Amino acid sequence: MKYVLVTGGVVSGLGKGVTASSVGVVLKACGLRVTSIKIDPYLNRDAGTMSPFEHGEVFVLDDGGEVDLDLGNYERFLDVTLTKDNNITTGKIYQSVLEKERRGDYLGKTVQVVPHVTDAIKNWIESVSVIPVDGKEGPADVCVIELGGTVGDIESMPFIEALRQLLFSVGQDNFCLIHVSLIPVLGVVGEQKTKPTQHSVRELRALGLTPHLLACRSAQPLLETTKEKLSQFCHVPVGNILNIHDVPNIWHVPLLLRNQNAHNSILKQLNLSKATPPDLQEWTKRAENFDSLTNSVRIAMVGKYVGLTDSYLSVVKALLHACIACSLKPSVDWIAASDLEDDSAVLTPEAHATAWKTLRNAACVLVPGGFGDRGVKGMILAAKYARENNVPYLGICLGMQISVIEFARSVLGMERANSEEFDTQTPDRVVMFMPEGSTTHMGSTMRLGSRRTLFQTPDCITAKLYHNSEYVDERHRHRYEVNPHMVGVLEEGGLKFVGKDESGQRMEILELPSHPFYVGVQFHPEFKSRPGRPSALFLGFILAAIGQLEAYLSQHQNGS
Ligand code: GLN
Repeated sequence: MKYVLVTGGVVSGLGKGVTASSVGVVLKACGLRVTSIKIDPYLNRDAGTMSPFEHGEVFVLDDGGEVDLDLGNYERFLDVTLTKDNNITTGKIYQSVLEKERRGDYLGKTVQVVPHVTDAIKNWIESVSVIPVDGKEGPADVCVIELGGTVGDIESMPFIEALRQLLFSVGQDNFCLIHVSLIPVLGVVGEQKTKPTQHSVRELRALGLTPHLLACRSAQPLLETTKEKLSQFCHVPVGNILNIHDVPNIWHVPLLLRNQNAHNSILKQLNLSKATPPDLQEWTKRAENFDSLTNSVRIAMVGKYVGLTDSYLSVVKALLHACIACSLKPSVDWIAASDLEDDSAVLTPEAHATAWKTLRNAACVLVPGGFGDRGVKGMILAAKYARENNVPYLGICLGMQISVIEFARSVLGMERANSEEFDTQTPDRVVMFMPEGSTTHMGSTMRLGSRRTLFQTPDCITAKLYHNSEYVDERHRHRYEVNPHMVGVLEEGGLKFVGKDESGQRMEILELPSHPFYVGVQFHPEFKSRPGRPSALFLGFILAAIGQLEAYLSQHQNGS
């Protein structure tokens, strides 16, 4: 196994994840099989308990892993399916060490960070890197490891030490270290400053790791003199100093790396001769196509965590993939659900008016997943607006539950209809707690990962969008579901549950046949959307927004 380690210096938020996945893309384009590991030095065992407000979305894998959103980037860029073990956290490592200690596996020894924790990290990396993630058999050729945080953080120290030991045991020929850093520009003269990078490289070297390549982030292209200075002070050949300056869209990043011959430097370091010149035709087309798009479509995103757009990163990416397939630029209008509520008309009238104006100007409405009751009233109003005005609506997970509550209240007259999550006393519990396993233990009651949905009829929009397949496997992350005892009345009222799980008890997809596109899904289709292969539901949603859904469906009637 060959390893490419990507570390970061100076500041966080440099786009280390995009850089690491782009390195993977270029190596894959050279004919190599690539896998990846993300290390998050925080103590949380996984991202499941972390607030999307603070940390961005929780990405969900097929195996039910709740992981850092960077794994979504890897899956999308490399077109792979990762496992929960591809995300290493301090919490997971310590948990495994402590479990071993309790079992007596350390044979009476004092358990220490070095060597026990560092050995656990090394073993984890070595065993996970060989798991095939691209649908082929046998291990990949290269494993890209991204170390989260910035070099010098206290939390990442055991990982740096473990990686140093890994390098020592696998040998220089099998290890390539790329350090991502920032080159700021200061003052009126606009000088590109190398000192922060020098310091962070020095810090890395003090810990026993010397970068083979530097990936310098900057607004404008780096000057030759800046590169020379960096080379001299950081002990990295000029040819190995890559520059990732600002580009119009992230698909340019692999192209930027290729143009600077990053692959040659990496392949040389890894002593890999079997690689071919990188074939990035599809990426070039995608990156350039996107830049040339002029028309856009307005999408209202009515959610709870709208302050940080990373909170819905995969939804935004899925919208992007679907829009590009329709030669459109997405224009996402973020609406804080609570601004739509009646209370806000009194307390913050301006925000209320703006939110409603934005909603009315949108071509379609999306209510994404979420937890807790904040903004729920506003989401219900948005669903009602979309339903009554024939505006395309896509409800994802919480968004589906919202549409059921709204329908029960407005159409069936059940005024207090609600989800058990928001009102435990409701007489009309249209959405209820339906755990697959334990009913008492909060930590493990979530229904997580890939589950099968069977279409109940071929004669519905979603079955047609999924190319008339009989079933679809999508990823889940929820506790509550439509109450199976209420399905009868809801269907009599006109709502149709066209997708159910294998037991027929769990409602997976709803449609409102009297509406051009009113779809709710209990799963999260956004997690499996890929550039060039948009999620069928998102594609249908965008096509409906521009009035082209019917034409598309009749054209693709034979499942082509
Ligand atoms: N809070 C809802 C549930 O637990 C929806 C979850 C979600 O949208 N991911 O079922």
